[in-house]
Amino acid sequence: MSFDYDLFVIGGGSGGVRAARVAAGEHGARVAVAEESRMGGTCVIRGCVPKKLMIFASQAGLMAEEMRGYGWEGAQAGRFDWPVFRSKLDAELTRLELIYTANLERSGVQIFHQRATIVDAHTVALADGTTKTAKHILIAVGGRPALPGIPGEELGLISDDLFLMKELPRRVLLVGGGYIACEFATILSGLGVETVQVYRGDAVLRGFDQQARDMATVQLSEIGIDLRLNVTPTGLARAGDRIDVAFNDGSHEEFDAVIWATGRNPYTGGLGLENTGVHLRGNGAIAVDEWSQTAVPSIFAVGDVTDRVNLTPVAIREGHAFADTIFGGRARKVSHATIASAVYLRPHEVAQIGLTEEQACARGDVDVYATTFRPMRSMFAGSNAKVMMKLLVDPGTDVVLGCHIFGPDAGEMIQLAAIPITMGATKADFDATMAVHPTAAEELVTMRQPTRRHRLEVPAQAATA
Ligand code: NDP
Repeated sequence: MSFDYDLFVIGGGSGGVRAARVAAGEHGARVAVAEESRMGGTCVIRGCVPKKLMIFASQAGLMAEEMRGYGWEGAQAGRFDWPVFRSKLDAELTRLELIYTANLERSGVQIFHQRATIVDAHTVALADGTTKTAKHILIAVGGRPALPGIPGEELGLISDDLFLMKELPRRVLLVGGGYIACEFATILSGLGVETVQVYRGDAVLRGFDQQARDMATVQLSEIGIDLRLNVTPTGLARAGDRIDVAFNDGSHEEFDAVIWATGRNPYTGGLGLENTGVHLRGNGAIAVDEWSQTAVPSIFAVGDVTDRVNLTPVAIREGHAFADTIFGGRARKVSHATIASAVYLRPHEVAQIGLTEEQACARGDVDVYATTFRPMRSMFAGSNAKVMMKLLVDPGTDVVLGCHIFGPDAGEMIQLAAIPITMGATKADFDATMAVHPTAAEELVTMRQPTRRHRLEVPAQAATA
């Protein structure tokens, strides 16, 4: 049977674009991509890229304060001009979108700027009514924000909306304690917006190391965010041009905008998957094996739609491995075992790789090498903000099981620490590494004695058996 294409990719985000470019450009496959929105997907258009630029924009107040500490009398951030920033941001995103499009076209990929749905194992339908056949279909449609399911929730915004706002709200409520809520609370408060953040638990960033979570929770309050723990909204109602929010403690408050940052769900609704034998997991994620293959042999899926590890570099790696395996004759799997990530807070970021101290303790014996200190740069300027660095080491093998950093540029630091840790480095390897002085990161290679040792309790009966 002959097909229109060797590969039809649904979704022009990080995973889909990488798979299409490698399949067509490197392996000579006939490839098409359908994208219903802007080429580049969540990361480029409404996620990592604009978010990071907003983080940079939001640091002005902090930098001015630090410069005053260094003797720059009267250093001030001035007034932030959102329309100016937004038009520069729009131009930058358009530039990136055009690069993505041009790179695909240069690789020989045909682009359809419209929605595609699945008809059967080898056929997709485009929004213009045409159908296309392909030997393989790759689903890379990503995720969509999840709302909490409470009355009036449609009055709230999602993170996508933030980059499109005509003007910044005067008073905002951010709901959630994950990556997006913490990063946007940090950004908006830094831009001068009165920011309230509510989280249903007692320390933000669940899943991160507890010590880092506790420090991040304190920092959010210290930079001026009104962070309320164990609080959650129960309903929203319109109050003139503001929004009245009811909370679980019975209180009510008005905000100019409410932003849901309550997680994301795989975007599988309306994709036509019921026409196929593709299996979905409970939250709508596409079930795939280690080759990103679904239950239908010709249909594959990569990225957030599979809900494995929902990060851009992971989607890119999965898309690349898929293309090499199917079209390049090079079978490649992606290891999801040791993946570093960072949360871009201010002044200190949270970054980690490997096990948390809590996970390491549950696994077995662990030696903890941890330090907290005031870094030279901000301490000189008068700040009491503390950095934390931690290595978790298996005392039996000396292998470093995890690394956690809370500090300025922690994201940059963890990227480099991720190399030896992914390679299976031991604490002795870290000790053998000469320090770069004076840096904050040198602490990672100068911690000599364990701060604490956790030993797995062996029940008396098991010990004597
Ligand atoms: P997260 O899963 O990180 O956080 C969701 C937050 O919402 C949690 O604090 C959760 O609480 C809370 N929550 C969930 N449901 C409700 C509810 N019904 N009522 C109240 N609170 C609720 O999701 P995000 O939306 O922050 O981010 C989505 C994904 O995007 C992340 O998982 C990450 O993979 C990716 N991302 C990565 C970034 C980075 O790498 N820097 C930046 C931004 C996003 P609880 O903890 O109790 O479950």
